[in-house]
Amino acid sequence: MNATNYDVIIIGGGPGGYTAALYCARAGLKTMVLEKLSAGGQMATTSQIDNYPGFPDGIDGFELGENMQKGAERFGAVTEYAEVTALCLTTMPKQVMTTNGNYYANAVILAMGASPKPLGIEGESALVGKGVAYCATCDGMYYKDKIVSVAGGGNSAAEDALTLSKLCKKVYLVHRRDSLRATKVYQSLLEKTPNIEFIWNAQIDGFLLNPNFQGLSLTDKITGHTYHLACDGIFVAIGRNPDTGILNGQVTLDSQGYICADETTRTNIPGVYAVGDIRTKPLRQVVTAVSDGAVASKFCEEYLQTIQK
Ligand code: NAP
Repeated sequence: MNATNYDVIIIGGGPGGYTAALYCARAGLKTMVLEKLSAGGQMATTSQIDNYPGFPDGIDGFELGENMQKGAERFGAVTEYAEVTALCLTTMPKQVMTTNGNYYANAVILAMGASPKPLGIEGESALVGKGVAYCATCDGMYYKDKIVSVAGGGNSAAEDALTLSKLCKKVYLVHRRDSLRATKVYQSLLEKTPNIEFIWNAQIDGFLLNPNFQGLSLTDKITGHTYHLACDGIFVAIGRNPDTGILNGQVTLDSQGYICADETTRTNIPGVYAVGDIRTKPLRQVVTAVSDGAVASKFCEEYLQTIQK
């Protein structure tokens, strides 16, 4: 086996990826994690994680990501910082092409997670960092004492609005319906926060520019009335898209683009597993991603034993 051959390659260094790495490395498998940015994935962009057990005061997501990486590396897992450009999952060994070269492994664990969904409004990508943001904990500080909007009605939007309310003068929570999808605990917190205002039944039509970001152009979906909402920036929190682009049709996806894999984390391809937010599952959380990582390593180990017979 040369330096670029592994028993298992894990693509993505979030909680699912590094838990799989910890379990695989601890089981004696030659294990590599490929990560394009930094350990922790989406979790690393959350400043305070309160619903991962074992941390009575909560923990910073970035710190938890780094700890998970160190834990896996203690047992011999290696991390390569590179972007995967293509995959060939049906050959033996499986091939992983990256910006740092090609790697080979008998098993692959897919842990690429999911990226924030854009609003899909004209000019949105050009305004990223100039009025449009997707991560309140990362970019909120740029809007200190300013007026911001948050788009969405789920737990992410609720969390972002609460985070921003501590930094910003005013936060508009702009939602396309008249009730939130977010859990009750968030709803009452939002209602109790004096500088958060709900903008219900609002369709976001465009950005007001002069030439810099000035606010939003909205339509009331009930009355059809169009109006402007002045603000210094918008945080988009309308869900996420699974990062499956590199799979190029090799792995079966569901109608929403998540990898079809049940509680065993097995995909339609032998020796290929999917863990964390990228797979079909009822609850996408750090704790469920971590669980997937452990499960994947068990089935991965079994698979590697079968092909060696
Ligand atoms: P989500 O639950 O899918 O909510 C997305 C929200 O954005 C919905 O309110 C949806 O409106 C709205 N939306 C979707 N597309 C839109 C569009 N094109 N324009 C305007 N609004 C749009 O996504 P999420 O909030 O990112 O949460 C994802 C998962 O992570 C969930 O399972 C969530 O529970 C979990 N999460 C948990 C926590 C926590 O427990 N602390 C924190 C964050 C996220 P409708 O309601 O009308 O569909």
